Amino acid sequence: MMSDAIQLDRDELRLPPIPSGRMLIGGQWVAGSSGASIDVEDPATGEIFAKVEAGGAEDVDKAVRAARKAFESPAWSRMRPLDRARLLETIARKIEEHADELALLESFDNGKAFEHAKMVDVPAAVDIFRYMSGWCARLGGTVNPISGDGRQYHSYTVHEPIGVVGLIVPWNYPLAMAAWKLAPALAAGCAMVLKPSEVTPLTALRLAELCLEAGVPEGVINVVTGYGPEAGQALVEHPGIDKIAFTGSTRVGKDIVRTCAIDLKRVTLELGGKSPSLVFADADIEKAALGAALAIFFNSGQVCLAASRLYVEESIYDRLMEAIIEVTRGFKLGHGRDPHTMIGPLVSRAQQDRVLGYIGKGRAAGNELLLGGGKGLETGYFVEPTIFRGSQADSAIVKEEIFGPVLVATPFKDVDEVVRTANDTRYGLAANIWTRDLSRAHLVARRLQAGIVWINTHGLNDPSAPFGGFKESGWGREVGEEGVLNYTETKTVTALLGD
Ligand code: NAD
Repeated sequence: MMSDAIQLDRDELRLPPIPSGRMLIGGQWVAGSSGASIDVEDPATGEIFAKVEAGGAEDVDKAVRAARKAFESPAWSRMRPLDRARLLETIARKIEEHADELALLESFDNGKAFEHAKMVDVPAAVDIFRYMSGWCARLGGTVNPISGDGRQYHSYTVHEPIGVVGLIVPWNYPLAMAAWKLAPALAAGCAMVLKPSEVTPLTALRLAELCLEAGVPEGVINVVTGYGPEAGQALVEHPGIDKIAFTGSTRVGKDIVRTCAIDLKRVTLELGGKSPSLVFADADIEKAALGAALAIFFNSGQVCLAASRLYVEESIYDRLMEAIIEVTRGFKLGHGRDPHTMIGPLVSRAQQDRVLGYIGKGRAAGNELLLGGGKGLETGYFVEPTIFRGSQADSAIVKEEIFGPVLVATPFKDVDEVVRTANDTRYGLAANIWTRDLSRAHLVARRLQAGIVWINTHGLNDPSAPFGGFKESGWGREVGEEGVLNYTETKTVTALLGD
């Protein structure tokens, strides 16, 4: 539908037609009940280029009812697992066919480089649907060898879809995060209401449209656009929702837990992070410098996994910092359709103000600024890649998630010290370790309190590898087998055989 407008010729990299702008409820594209809308801005220019509906409680209620009806309908509940698998594979292919369009839409909406969206975000969405298609016909249970009271029983488990699920996603990887929730929920046989971030709603709408085209029955996927405290909150409170799968800030995650406690809705949470990079003196300096720089500056630092704390063994601190600064100076700031752009704008003025505020706090606390610190470009919501020497362990830039391109680099003396400091955070999402000594790498990996540890690399995610955090970085795991099982309830069935 839009591919004519998208040639890889740069002059033609124009905004693709915007998905309907309405919400998807019960298979229909509908207006919100309040009539209010949300402006969608291009963060590279501040221009408003689209509007979506500002959905509220009434719309959420309609969407939840539509999802319940779909969940109970034979078209979905009786669909053969292998047909569900084919459906997910068809969605994966549709995303592939619309890769340019989706990447471009993501670039306009979020600000990220078109090439990055095409290289990372779109394949992540394709891969999760393809991977989850494999689970549709493999969600078998167990036969339980029960001892019981000596009589003979047949006992088995089944994994039933949990029901109607509310999926709430953030703005940093809008397409990929939506896909990471839709795909396992579909594989498990749930029906769902997706609420994208009010800041970046477009690719979720387009993805839902592609899912409908692929043949997902009406009402199985509903999308309500709207603000968090309105549409999001209404979804979390709705008694017709059986589970909330949330990706976003730790603050909102905790509020969601409190609300879900009222009726004990199931909850999985992918929350914030303050991940460490650990570079030992025997590391390959060039690789570690590039890896540590990308680990914080990719996607302008707006990554839950961003390794925003860097710990470097004292003897190589100056050399490594020189190398990181040199690599980072080569990262060009620019808008997402410029092929040379490495660092796009932050997603919004609010995010830019927040990050610049942290940079101000870092300076005020006495941390030495080694690089950046400013906006870099005047138009749009840019912030330069910024590096501090972290001399004040208690300052906000060391403790709090900034969610922007700000790195705090601190020297360390020995393994015990660096493990202690790396773990000295309320978060526990990810960590990376750079060393040539693989036994040390694995020993340190065991001691780090993080859901994901990379050795001599950073940021590789795969649908087969469980993803999630320790401590205040979340509850549960996404993707992998655990990811799909989190959309099911396990039922044990036990029959007495004879008397
Ligand atoms: P956010 O928590 O402000 O919003 C996330 C989503 O929740 C949005 O759709 C928002 O509208 C909605 N929301 C806000 N208030 C709500 C409420 N009261 N009830 C229900 N929904 C509500 O987060 P953000 O600013 O969009 O994203 C950045 C945060 O997300 C960062 O903290 C980042 O670390 C985290 N994140 C985590 C992961 C992960 O997998 N661990 C991935 C990406 C982002």
